[in-house]
Amino acid sequence: MMSAQVEWLWGPPTCPPHLAALRERVSAFAASPDLAALREAARAEGLYGLALPGRYGGLGLPLREWAHIAEVEGEHGPYVFGSAALLDLAVLPEDDPVREDVARGLLTTCNAMTEPDAPGSDPSFTTTKAYRDTDGTWRVTGRKWFVSGADRADLAYVLARTGDGLSLLLSEAFQTERELAVLGAGGQWEVTFDDAPARLLGAEGEGLRLIGRRVRLGRVLRCLNWLGQAQHAFTLMRDRARARPSRAGRLADFQLVQQMVFESLLAIRQCRPLVYDAAALLAGGRDAATEIGLAKVAAARMLSQVADAAVQVHGAAGLGPDTPLPAIFRTGRTARILDGPDELHVASVARRLLR
Ligand SMILES: Cc1cc2nc3c(=O)[nH]c(=O)nc-3n(C[C@H](O)[C@H](O)[C@H](O)COP(=O)(O)OP(=O)(O)OC[C@H]3O[C@@H](n4cnc5c(N)ncnc54)[C@H](O)[C@@H]3O)c2cc1C
Repeated sequence: MMSAQVEWLWGPPTCPPHLAALRERVSAFAASPDLAALREAARAEGLYGLALPGRYGGLGLPLREWAHIAEVEGEHGPYVFGSAALLDLAVLPEDDPVREDVARGLLTTCNAMTEPDAPGSDPSFTTTKAYRDTDGTWRVTGRKWFVSGADRADLAYVLARTGDGLSLLLSEAFQTERELAVLGAGGQWEVTFDDAPARLLGAEGEGLRLIGRRVRLGRVLRCLNWLGQAQHAFTLMRDRARARPSRAGRLADFQLVQQMVFESLLAIRQCRPLVYDAAALLAGGRDAATEIGLAKVAAARMLSQVADAAVQVHGAAGLGPDTPLPAIFRTGRTARILDGPDELHVASVARRLLR
């Protein structure tokens, strides 16, 4: 629950008053390991697809407003509350035959870009190939990995080399080969395409431009999600420090614990405006490359730092099964690699500034 005190803790930008009740409902939505059931419950409560346009059954909240909800939707929120479909709408043309079903959550997609034998941070090394068959059908062959949610996806976006550069295709004919545990947790998959029929999206050679739209919005939404997870970890840390007895009285009375609390809040407060700046620029259709790069690196570092501090203050309990801290800690560590490793953003923002 986002109490008034918690709003005060996080600082500006504060949630617009007309969204406060909605934000509380999303924030308080019960957690369950059965994500499909949780998604149905969200639908039943009218909390599904809030950010999607009205014609797809959503509330059509603009990104600037949705940001305040996205922050509290939780680790699996994009799937449970349907905001993941925003990324599809950024890529699929208005007249695409699956756009409506994807937007309504009847079809789910995954994004197959990274390959085992090529650096994911540089798509120009992509080896997956696609060609147009004699009957006009596009066919894809290649191996991708760390494809999030491939097991429950109906369709995969796949970046492939075609005669004219890198192109983006959509295919339903992919095999999930094995699950790749990330620091012990599932959800990532290695997938193969074996002469798989596919549909070309946009024009040949336009793959990076098309997927770029999805990736830019995805990074901003992910940063908002990381902010929410950090706030959750911070609250757990603060509550633990106040409740746990110690030689000093409570853990909260140790100055070194106070320092972790201070540094964590500072990291959250420094990061939050950067993320909202990036969201505002992107929503305004402006070139947000620098702001997104700054926000991504800041948010990944911030989540790593806050999750680490929260685990430390909990002692062994922070590593055990009774709190969400191991999952948040894991997200913090992966944050510095996925959506482009931090080094990539540091280098490209700096190059842009120095040009
Ligand atoms: C949890 C998780 C979910 C993911 N989900 C997906 C998904 O759904 N779809 C998908 O396609 N991929 C996904 N990925 C893969 C992710 O996008 C890649 O791991 C990422 O782009 C880096 O590519 P790579 O792993 O091949 O690392 P490499 O490109 O091999 O880079 C390795 C390291 O080299 C260094 N490096 C790279 N570039 C530079 C540079 N310019 N300057 C300095 N150092 C540099 C960095 O330290 C980097 O970590 C996911 C990964 C994780 C961990």
